[in-house]
Amino acid sequence: MELRDLKSLTMEECIEVAEKLGEKGFRGKQLYKWLHHNRVENLDDMKNLPGKFRDRLKEEYYIANVKIVRKQVSKNGDTAKYLFELEDGKFIESVLMKYKYGNSVCISSQVGCRMGCTFCASTLLGLERSLTAGEMLSQIYKINEETGERVSNVIVMGMGEPMDNYDNLLRFIRIINDEDGYHLSQRNITVSTCGIVEGIRKLMQEKLQITLAISLHAPNDEIRRQTMPVANKYSMDEIFEACREYKDVTGRRVTFEYTVIDGVNDSKDNALELARRCKGMGCHINLIPLNEVKERKCRRAKEENIEDFKIILEKNKINVTIRREMGGDIDAACGQLRNTHLEQSAH
Ligand code: SAH
Repeated sequence: MELRDLKSLTMEECIEVAEKLGEKGFRGKQLYKWLHHNRVENLDDMKNLPGKFRDRLKEEYYIANVKIVRKQVSKNGDTAKYLFELEDGKFIESVLMKYKYGNSVCISSQVGCRMGCTFCASTLLGLERSLTAGEMLSQIYKINEETGERVSNVIVMGMGEPMDNYDNLLRFIRIINDEDGYHLSQRNITVSTCGIVEGIRKLMQEKLQITLAISLHAPNDEIRRQTMPVANKYSMDEIFEACREYKDVTGRRVTFEYTVIDGVNDSKDNALELARRCKGMGCHINLIPLNEVKERKCRRAKEENIEDFKIILEKNKINVTIRREMGGDIDAACGQLRNTHLEQSAH
């Protein structure tokens, strides 16, 4: 029989498991707290659970985990990239960024990605599989344990497209937010999507207080289609419409990410067009200098073009920041470390 992962279960489901195995419901709650509050990795360390219950659990369940294979720390020490191995031998990566306000972790939601953006390293080998909620949680718990410091912000912006793994994403958010678990505030969670409109609509119905980030990377559909195949499926008009609704329903302003690529989307006209379209959206635009990926042709825009781009948006009263660069010296672009590792182990 295939074992099921306990770490991916909600508290209610843990209670059901306990009752199904002939225990009182509160044993399920204890189990859940061991997993998410104390973050214990083995059933045998859950001291207040009856031995019989633990033995019965072991027959049908396991506890998902990730193993640190490599850790690269940037020269100034503010960024660390973790390469994790999953139980089935696949690799994912997470990035820890230390800010004054706390430790932020960028997690992966899938092994690989099938969105095919032409500047991105995660998608080079396609999608292998989606992560379970337990595997998403494990990235945070492991980094928390390894650093001995609490992770205070989580960004689902590593490898993978979170909306392509919607149910596990939601489960992950519910569990990490739960006051009997890690108890991370929804406001400290950001989910980034390449703009899957059904996903945005579904997510707004959950009425969460998380931040939604959209990878826009273009001022119009024509340019967007050059780098993002998903732009053939959803137009920017449809995405903007969904974002307006998202803001109306949740009260949360949406962030647009805009990776600035030399000669593709970095002209003054591009900035003006973007400003025009974003007017009245109440959005925030995050300009990201491209991390060059060696297998890809896209090049980073010149510093002064990025600065001009920002000034044009500001003049048009659009809220804009340039993402502070972190981890450029440690293959911090999504999927780069995993690719380097897979290449090296192939030799
Ligand atoms: N699939 C989701 C989340 C993962 S990608 C999404 O598309 O939003 C996280 C962000 O990093 C996206 O905005 C993505 O477009 C961007 N990105 C990917 N590769 C990059 C690179 N090489 N340099 C800069 N940004 C990159």
